[in-house]
Amino acid sequence: MEQFSIQRLSPQLVRIGGLMHEFMYLVEGGERAALIDTGGGFGSLRQVVRSLTGKPLVVLLTHGHVDHAMGAGEFEDVWMDPRDIPVFCQHARQAFRIEALHGARPRLEQDPPMIPCADPRRFHPLRDGAGFDLGGVHLDVFECPGHTPGSMVVLLRELRTTIDDAMDAAGLPLIGVIPEDRRVILAANMGRPLILEGRRGAANACLNIAKRIEGYRVPIMRIR
Ligand SMILES: [Zn+2]
Repeated sequence: MEQFSIQRLSPQLVRIGGLMHEFMYLVEGGERAALIDTGGGFGSLRQVVRSLTGKPLVVLLTHGHVDHAMGAGEFEDVWMDPRDIPVFCQHARQAFRIEALHGARPRLEQDPPMIPCADPRRFHPLRDGAGFDLGGVHLDVFECPGHTPGSMVVLLRELRTTIDDAMDAAGLPLIGVIPEDRRVILAANMGRPLILEGRRGAANACLNIAKRIEGYRVPIMRIR
């Protein structure tokens, strides 16, 4: 449990932080709850979720990356866009997961227990326009390909907000969009600053973010 941080954002919404500095969101309605993403799969996220709610749980994966989907093995009712099965399988390799964990440089004396990966063929297909009624709280799902082929966003209808909006409400404006770029993982695994991999793609996006933090007006990159 100490591998996770817990922050309540509203009566219905809890943000759970993991060892890779990733975030999961638990949304609770009157009848059931939804977990959005499952993180890197180090330590038991299920225990954390069950300490917060005893309601029936549906799990929605926004995409299949190593820091979002690897905890899914602990849960039964999991949904993901099938277009992300190839990227899920690529990221689910044990060596890849361990390198990704070490790349995130968590402060640990020893590696926490790794949750075995789920078989993504058992996931229910998450499609554009899907809806989940949690009892007084509704989630609407929309496809948002780009970061991965099957990336999805989840809208909390009653809050009239997306997760990004919730971050805005917390006082964290959008300062940039980082495109999918394999150099991010390569640089992280080698412990090298991304910018040394060339001023392209994600490196350029991060440089632009640094400039915005310093007060320069830099337009958001167009990502195809
Ligand atoms: Zn990702």
